[in-house]
Amino acid sequence: MEGPGRVRPMRPTWVEVDLDAIAHNVETLQRLAAPAQLMAVVKADGYGHGAVMVARTALAHGARRLAVAVVEEGVHLRQSAIACPILVMGWTPPWQYGLALRYDLELTVSSEEEARALAEAARREGRRVRVHLKVDTGMGRLGLRWDHPRLAEVAARIAGLGGLELVGVFTHLATADDPDAPLTEEQLARFGRIVATLDERGLRPLLRHAANSAALLRLPGARYDLVRPGIALYGLEPFRGAVAAFDLRPALAWKTRVALVKEVPAGTPISYGATFVTRRPSRIAVLPVGYADGLRRALSNRGQVLVGGRRVPIVGRVCMDQVMVDVTDAGPVAVGDEAVLIGRQGDEAITADEMAGWMDTIGYEVVTGIGRRVPRIY
Ligand SMILES: *Cc1c(COP(=O)(O)O)cnc(C)c1O
Repeated sequence: MEGPGRVRPMRPTWVEVDLDAIAHNVETLQRLAAPAQLMAVVKADGYGHGAVMVARTALAHGARRLAVAVVEEGVHLRQSAIACPILVMGWTPPWQYGLALRYDLELTVSSEEEARALAEAARREGRRVRVHLKVDTGMGRLGLRWDHPRLAEVAARIAGLGGLELVGVFTHLATADDPDAPLTEEQLARFGRIVATLDERGLRPLLRHAANSAALLRLPGARYDLVRPGIALYGLEPFRGAVAAFDLRPALAWKTRVALVKEVPAGTPISYGATFVTRRPSRIAVLPVGYADGLRRALSNRGQVLVGGRRVPIVGRVCMDQVMVDVTDAGPVAVGDEAVLIGRQGDEAITADEMAGWMDTIGYEVVTGIGRRVPRIY
């Protein structure tokens, strides 16, 4: 990717998204999943990468469908001239049915009542709505419970509603990232029995789907007709070691530039609360990025960034709009030098997953947490 020296965004803090990496990841995942179709999960603004650009790239490299969490995300894709099927995987409240219908979004239903209300709304608008029935096989979240005594009859009645077309049945796995969790197999067995029962009732062809990134990579039996990778599209870890094992490429880099460098004596407090005090004569660099940009305050006195191709520690508390790093050992550092929060510089690299580790969270939360005021460059 061309350096930002050439692109010159307004702000000296920015995200670079490598669409070639996304394309590579989509192709890699699609090859693995075939003959199952790939539905690219682009909720939360494409995990912070930019939903529209990710969606276009994914569709150009083999994805057949898109999935989002909420109706507005689907509308945004439609308004960007994306015409493929789009599934809203979260709960759609009744007051958004009209909007969802107008933008031709496929919706998730978890109960017969929900399906009836939706079918009625569709008939009122003179439209048909395509729905996927969600089954809760052990995640304990959305979905009709797998042990519902009349699940197949409910599905058949939903499929028979005028104004509504039942196009899919799906479930979500709670522990697909953990090879030792017995729940995954239980969930897949429950789902397998359900789709077999629906099959016997003649409820086909339905798109059956169960696999998030971890399941797509680890569990061929979970792939069914359609896979729903999110995190792996972006080259981040659904489980430790996946990125290396499957040759995925991280697509996102997060960078800033040094705003000020100062030489300070030993005993100098740095930032709010004076939680860090220099122990030697030090060089401190100020970076124009803070927790309002998604550089979480939990990184205070814990995280690292790359400056001059070296890892340097965050010192003191992360502020709303700024953070300080100790560059005493980093060689010459000048105002305007690039600092890398996530990504590569020289021979060093910090991944979103590594940053997540410093805060006891997961890469998902790091990338979806990068603020809106940070421009994305492609
Ligand atoms: C977010 C989500 C996915 C994608 O999960 P990843 O772990 O990012 O691959 C798949 N299915 C559902 C229902 C989701 O909510």
